Amino acid sequence: MFDKNFEIEYINKKISKCEKCSLHLSRNTTVPGEGNINSPIVFVGEGPGADEDATGHPFVGKAGQFLEKMLVNWSKLKKSDVYITNIVKCRPPKNRVPTTEEIKLCTPFLESQLIILKPKIIVALGSTSLKYFGINKKITAARGHFFDWKGNIKIFATFHPSYLIRNQSMEKNSPTWYASFDMKAIGWMYKAFNSGKTADEIVKVINERMKASGGV
Ligand code: SF4
Repeated sequence: MFDKNFEIEYINKKISKCEKCSLHLSRNTTVPGEGNINSPIVFVGEGPGADEDATGHPFVGKAGQFLEKMLVNWSKLKKSDVYITNIVKCRPPKNRVPTTEEIKLCTPFLESQLIILKPKIIVALGSTSLKYFGINKKITAARGHFFDWKGNIKIFATFHPSYLIRNQSMEKNSPTWYASFDMKAIGWMYKAFNSGKTADEIVKVINERMKASGGV
């Protein structure tokens, strides 16, 4: 019988021993991802930062705390309601953007995680994640919109919280002001999936709501 928890733990053990790219040389620990393995929504960020590298848990530093605050305030969700992971599982030195080679070597792990988790919607946090999912748009243009990936998965784009903590103004048309619409949409999606709505129905309603509210 397929045991999701066992399968995810198996991948995470493989990640913990991985030395495929040079990021293993400077890491303290790998950060495979964690959260609700049965969530219809999986968040994918860029890579671990210093706090994540020290603890092995994703999004526990300042950016993660800001993400949690946004989830609680606007999505009415806890971080543990969704699964959260990153494109690369080891911290790039000085939090630089991971290289194309590092992404290429690491993302088979992400692909395996996504095959096991089977999310209906992936929230791409920031431009590195967006680019990985094949969306060649700026995050400012892509956010608040859905994109198809591999036929049956929808990608929903929003800002990376590390960008938002440097731009916390809630002034109209500011990044955090737009992110508040994205987070409300994510909260609604989560509840809609749990009440049996399909991804296509959800996308249609969110698109209408976003347009009507000025969120896009
Ligand atoms: S970043 Fe990914 S590919 Fe590179 S060592 Fe870490 S787990 Fe392996």
